Amino acid sequence: MTLSVQQKVVVGHYIDGAADEPRDGSFDDIYDPATGEVTKRVAMGTPAEVDRAVAAAQRAFGAWSEVPPVRRAALLFAYREALVRETDRLARIITSEHGKTLDDARAEMQRGIEVVEFACGIPHLLKGDLTENVARDVDSFSLRQPLGVCAGITPFNFPAMVPMWMFPISIACGNTFVLKPSEKVPSLSVELARIALECGIPAGVLNVVHGGRPVVEALLDHPGIRAVSFVGSTAVARAVYARGTAAGKRVQALGGAKNHLVAMPDADLEQTADALLGAAFGSAGERCMAISVAVAVGDVAEPLLARLKEKAVALRVDAGTAPGSEMGPLISAEHRRRVAGYIESGVAEGAELVLDGRTHAAAQRDGFFLGPSIFDRVEPRMRIYREEIFGPVLAVVRVPSAERALQIVNDHELANGAAVFTRSGGRARWFVHNVAAGMVGVNVAIPVPMSFHSFGGSKNSLFGDHHMHGPEGVRFSTRQKTATVRWPSNEAGGAEFVMPTSK
Ligand code: NAD
Repeated sequence: MTLSVQQKVVVGHYIDGAADEPRDGSFDDIYDPATGEVTKRVAMGTPAEVDRAVAAAQRAFGAWSEVPPVRRAALLFAYREALVRETDRLARIITSEHGKTLDDARAEMQRGIEVVEFACGIPHLLKGDLTENVARDVDSFSLRQPLGVCAGITPFNFPAMVPMWMFPISIACGNTFVLKPSEKVPSLSVELARIALECGIPAGVLNVVHGGRPVVEALLDHPGIRAVSFVGSTAVARAVYARGTAAGKRVQALGGAKNHLVAMPDADLEQTADALLGAAFGSAGERCMAISVAVAVGDVAEPLLARLKEKAVALRVDAGTAPGSEMGPLISAEHRRRVAGYIESGVAEGAELVLDGRTHAAAQRDGFFLGPSIFDRVEPRMRIYREEIFGPVLAVVRVPSAERALQIVNDHELANGAAVFTRSGGRARWFVHNVAAGMVGVNVAIPVPMSFHSFGGSKNSLFGDHHMHGPEGVRFSTRQKTATVRWPSNEAGGAEFVMPTSK
């Protein structure tokens, strides 16, 4: 899997149950975001590796798709056990490449493993429907069958969980899979594929090809791939959806987010401030379900801001491995610059910078650190409101009423998650009913659905019809077939020339 090229460990592809050991071609640097140092290099694939991986997956598909679902489930049970055993080691790999705290990395592992647990129920999930006597002596049944080779393209912010939103259900359904993880955090995917092989999931069922745009485009254009799951920024999600569907593939492409938390005047202040703090600054704001906008209704704004600032100042910003660290660094120097640029633009556009993460002590040291930032009096016209920042920057928008708050939330082009904090059941129900976001929280700031429900936003946060994992994941990974069956009796019926109807 790895070898030393120019004194650096190289993360190679994983194809047909074997680790590639690339000695030439192009490589990208992998950083430890807590130190800013290059720690490894990743092989950047080409269409040739995509061809090889798809060919391996096609070869594996024939036998794998015929393995009875209950046997596939047995292998996934073993896989689940192995992942639980290895959680700590895998979490350390996540932290070393992504920077998030170890506790957060372990929690990410758990959320991914929960999808494997859901996939263990595949015999039940694939059960079809049967109607006896749709016509005299005729029965009809429907069933779901695998598609063939499927592909997944994943972002940097969840090196384990997002790949595990995709491939466990896909392979449980009988498909084979080619995963293209983010080139910034590539090691975990290789580990996931290697452990799958050790658990008896056959070679070629789960393959990993690293790389950037050329690999993504080769996957989207490849005639051997039937379906593509994508998670990443909105601009790339839109392009992936257009290109993949134009090539005749089934595509689900989840994009960026700007998640709002509406704080009503009757909300529990302490609970709301704590929830906001964790949701805005956890994982350095690099979560697609991070809260980046707090909409403060009426007179809740002043006391909420005071509590937020007090708590944010006390936040422990440190390396993900440091004991007690609550927020790690950003993913790269470039991204840190980008986020700092947004802080500059917020000030220039007239928002009130209540807390400046650029001046935080951690932001002065090596590594890609920024402290938490809070803007007050943000307006929808501002760039820091309209665009996804994907960093530890919270915008507070003040509004006079719940109706205006809802309008602001629903006017945004991104609609992944939204939350309301209130003590009123009626107000909460009104919000859930009317909000445009795909995932809604009531006194829950990060309403990420559990594995047995499905995950997805709406508007420009999701291109395609299917959400990810849960029942929608099974539907996305299979095609339906309906059979209408008559067994011959002794009576001769004669030919019929009208559309069959129930008699
Ligand atoms: P990204 O869009 O830059 O990259 C995502 C994937 O696409 C990576 O594998 C990358 O190699 C590839 N890619 C990048 N540019 C490409 C291009 N021009 N053509 C084809 N492929 C390309 O996203 P990221 O920076 O890795 O991740 C952060 C983004 O992901 C944020 O916008 C975040 O909101 C989003 N995200 C969304 C969800 C969700 O569920 N909606 C979940 C996690 C992350």
